[in-house]
Amino acid sequence: MDSAAAKLVARNTLTIRMSHTAPDGKNVVVGRFAPSPTGPLHFGSLVAAVASYVSCEKWLLRIEDIDTPRNAPDATDSILRTLERCEFVWQEPPLYQSARLDAYREAFEQLKRDGLVYPCGCTRAEIADSAVSQTNSGERPYPGTCRGGIRAGRSPRSWRMRVEAEDIGFEDLIQGRYAQNLAGEVGDFVLLRADGIFGYQLAVVVDDAFQGVTHVMRGADLLSSTPRQIWLQRALGLSEPVYAHHPVATGRDGEKLSKQNLAEPVDLMQPGEAVRRALRFLNHEPPEGLAPGGQLAWAKAHWDTGRVPKVRTLSAGA
Ligand code: GLU
Repeated sequence: MDSAAAKLVARNTLTIRMSHTAPDGKNVVVGRFAPSPTGPLHFGSLVAAVASYVSCEKWLLRIEDIDTPRNAPDATDSILRTLERCEFVWQEPPLYQSARLDAYREAFEQLKRDGLVYPCGCTRAEIADSAVSQTNSGERPYPGTCRGGIRAGRSPRSWRMRVEAEDIGFEDLIQGRYAQNLAGEVGDFVLLRADGIFGYQLAVVVDDAFQGVTHVMRGADLLSSTPRQIWLQRALGLSEPVYAHHPVATGRDGEKLSKQNLAEPVDLMQPGEAVRRALRFLNHEPPEGLAPGGQLAWAKAHWDTGRVPKVRTLSAGA
């Protein structure tokens, strides 16, 4: 190997993994909470924070601020402040996706060298107009227009990952078996967007591997993203974490609580009540009289994934 190639290998961040071992040398269950800083923490995202926290031994934070146009000013500070008020404890500083662009680029280049990505010249409107029927999820699979090359006179807009007509499945600890035929249900998906921003699927996979995450606990709205993430892990030679998708909290209208429908921020004056509600939502009831940190510690000690309701959505209640 010449020295330039050696340097490249040495710089390959995909091969550098944070390692987490207990003093006795045993591997620890590493979980993470990965909020996008698009607004303050609301009940739905607090549930994701609590579920990930109590179901692992080492909890990592990742601020998913890669989609810069969607970032809200001060949202990261506000999220971290809320987690502190709720007495979450984390040892390592958060990982910011905005500081990880070189790693995403490297993974992307690896996939490109392997012939797994291609440039696409289609606009959103063209894809929406295409005659491909809508799938159950309501998403239209990309029809593969640019798979064999971009049409004459067109220039590349985005870059897509090739998928196959093959079921990609996994055993979800809460939702059970879940599989998707990526070609039929999703199609070749975007890794690098037309605005030059790396797609969520690529960034998450690279970062979960880099942070040494062994257990991904998150909302069931991301269940349908998981086969794409597994597909990428296989293509990049990364190991597959265990997945668990808890129900997402819905409001009175039955819609997922989100920053878009202006879900109320967690009440900083009543963090104990907020944590208790989140645990109750996950079907765990700590004893009365505990501070938020005490409730979280109790739930860590008594956590049973099998008790979490096996549904994809659940009303947030009063
Ligand atoms: N950043 C995503 C969100 O806030 C979560 C991503 C993940 O957990 O994989 O919805």
